[in-house]
Amino acid sequence: MRSKVIAGNWKMNKDADESVELINGLLTRGAEIPAAVTVVLCPPFTSLAIAHRLLDGSPFFLGAQNMHYEDEGAFTGEVSAAMLKSVGCSYVILGHSERRQLFGETNELVNRKLRKALASGLTPIVCVGETLEEREREVTEQVISVQLKGALKDVSEADVARTIIAYEPVWAIGTGRNATPDQAQDVHRFIRKLIGQMYSWTTAEKVVIQYGGSVKPDNAAGLLGKPDIDGALVGGACLKVESFFGIVKATSL
Ligand code: PEP
Repeated sequence: MRSKVIAGNWKMNKDADESVELINGLLTRGAEIPAAVTVVLCPPFTSLAIAHRLLDGSPFFLGAQNMHYEDEGAFTGEVSAAMLKSVGCSYVILGHSERRQLFGETNELVNRKLRKALASGLTPIVCVGETLEEREREVTEQVISVQLKGALKDVSEADVARTIIAYEPVWAIGTGRNATPDQAQDVHRFIRKLIGQMYSWTTAEKVVIQYGGSVKPDNAAGLLGKPDIDGALVGGACLKVESFFGIVKATSL
């Protein structure tokens, strides 16, 4: 039985003081997290250290939104896996569509980051998803297949079992237009079958596949009730305690 993972991607929102306020608000609701649910907060880099201190001893896990694949060196503006671990991160989002579209991240780069994250003991959340134009051309499965195979190149079966995949249709991110539960379930099933073909069905059944794209308290239960949807990667709705917890609690509806 896969447990559900709800992760909040804060993106480039919340300065240090605002982060403290949001985290303190979330901490007041920690006892409401259902036993089989993992909740991960992914604030910007500048808030990770303070988040680490505030979340100590709480049921929340900490994640970052990106990392570099090298250990250290002349990589201005970048942050390594070891640095993330030093501020308490156990998760890292990789290959988000905004990184792919706005910062030119390729499948090859995502693969290098993924292998480094796994080697460092971080749990990667690898994002895949098609654009609206690709969905309309009916090439969603081909696009996902190329992204997934590229990201998982040379990743062992043991490692893929502890990798989280986030299916995030680009047309649903920040648009208020979510995939229907059936549309999302179809792609999640496709992803699981693909992992089954690449590795084994036993491993495919272990992989947590999150849905992301305009998840809100009022659509979360429908999405999370589908058999292959094992959680959510939440953008806009994670910036307010009430809406984030509306989604966390939808896991048990
Ligand atoms: C995201 O950025 O990963 C995301 C899913 O955003 P939103 O929930 O705002 O669509």
